[in-house]
This record gives sequence, structure tokens and C-alpha cells, in this order.
Amino acid sequence: MKTMFRRVLTTASLLLCFSTDALSCGLVNFVAMPLDQNLRTNPIKAALETAYPGLSVNDANGFISFPNGEQVALGETRHQMDPLQRLANPTVREQFLFVYPLGHDLESRKLEFNDPGRLRNDAFFRALYFGDKKSAQATLTRVKYKSKKVSKRFSVTTKNCVAVQLAAALKEAAGSAAFETYFRESGGSFSWRLISGTKRLSVHSFGAAIDIDPKLGQYWKWRNPKPGTSHVYKNKIPLGLVEIFEKYGFIWGGKWFHYDGMHFEYRPKLILHSRLVS
Ligand SMILES: [Zn+2]
Repeated sequence: MKTMFRRVLTTASLLLCFSTDALSCGLVNFVAMPLDQNLRTNPIKAALETAYPGLSVNDANGFISFPNGEQVALGETRHQMDPLQRLANPTVREQFLFVYPLGHDLESRKLEFNDPGRLRNDAFFRALYFGDKKSAQATLTRVKYKSKKVSKRFSVTTKNCVAVQLAAALKEAAGSAAFETYFRESGGSFSWRLISGTKRLSVHSFGAAIDIDPKLGQYWKWRNPKPGTSHVYKNKIPLGLVEIFEKYGFIWGGKWFHYDGMHFEYRPKLILHSRLVS
């Protein structure tokens, strides 16, 4: 009871500047939360339903139902498909095709097209978050990183508890002086836009991603290789910082073959799925 009370207090203190949307959000540690062994029999369904309360997966008809009444098909995993074509229009099930590696694993990203989290089904994201820019903007709030010398604000959504989870990650990161330098510059947060060179909406459009200092982060396209060609990534982001983000449900683009080392996005389902299949 005492622990519960403390947890409520901690969450409440993080919520002071957020809208009422966020008031139902309890802080979740996705890396440590207990997961029943039974959930391993259907890890995709379990990961989706645990990550986003209110969403349900119907195995019988192959559809996901969202709290707003929308339904989106899970679809199939097309193993033989050209990776670039798949990237352009993946099914929901294919979002889980590459397992996101937790912790200090930078080896699996060396496999061609191993980009866990980069496959995003547009209908799924629009149903989970927003269908248009105006609706996204209506839910935005500013979450602060504040250490002794650095103060930065990131504009993210309160929807799906993104702001609450990010506030906890940034607060924990600010507790370590070693991480301060990565927040001296911000690469951005909310921005309703397409991913450069594509027709796909970036997760920044939903206010569910942030970029830390781009100079330290690095992005594969800045070296101008063609998609799918091998390229060397010299990581500069401390894995301890990555672990803090992962704990609160954010995956890191530095673990992608097509690396985006400044980028963290809220994808708790991929973290839960990784735990369930490992
Ligand atoms: Zn980004």
C-alpha cells in the first residue's frame, strides 16, 4: 500500500504541467514489469494489449480494435517481400518482424535491413494516435530535460501516456552528469511531417518521438548511402542513456541498420514483444 502511494505521488508530481489526458497514466517500467508466462503463446497480441490499455486484438477475425472504435487489420508477415517495398507499406504484424534488441546489443543492427521499429503501419498509427495535424496539436505538452547547466523542452503528446513516460526518462537522465552533453542541443520533437525522401509519416508527427543532439546522434542518410547498402555506424550515444529510455518504453534508432542515433520513439509494444520472444 505504501509503495502504491509513493508511486501515485511520483506520477502526480510529473503531471503538474500536463493536461487531464495524462491524469489516468501510471508510470510504467516496460523492461521490468512482470509478464505472465502465458503471454508468450501470442507475443504480438500480448505486447499490443499490454502496451496500450483499451486496445484489443481479435485473433479470430485478425483485427485490432482501438478505444475510439476504429479497427485495423493485423495482416500477414510477407517473408519473401522486397525489404524496400515492405518498408513503404508494412502490415501491423510486420512491425514485429525484426525483434528490437534490449540493452547493450549493437550487433543485430549489422544485419541488412534489420531496423526494428522502422516498419510502421500508417493506419495503425493514425488509429492509435491521430489522423491529422490539428488533432495531434491539440494534445501537445512540453516536457523538460533539466540538469545543472542544461535546460531543454520537448513537445510531445499526452496521448497513450507518452508525455508522462518521457518526463520520467528525462528526469532520470538528468540525474547523471555524464548524459548532460547529449541534451545541449535538441534535434526536435513534434513535427507533422513525412520521413525525408519518403511518403510515410514520421512518428514525430504524432508527438511520440524526440531527437537529442544531432551532432552526437548521427543519421545514415547524412553519409548518403543507398538504402540497404552497408555503412559503418560509429556510435557516440552511451548505452546507459539508451537503457533509461527503453525502461520507459522508448526505442532507440541507433539499433537500426539504417541508423538514426539521435532518435528515440515511444514503442513500448516492441520492448514487451522483445521480452516475450527472448
Ligand atoms: Zn527523430
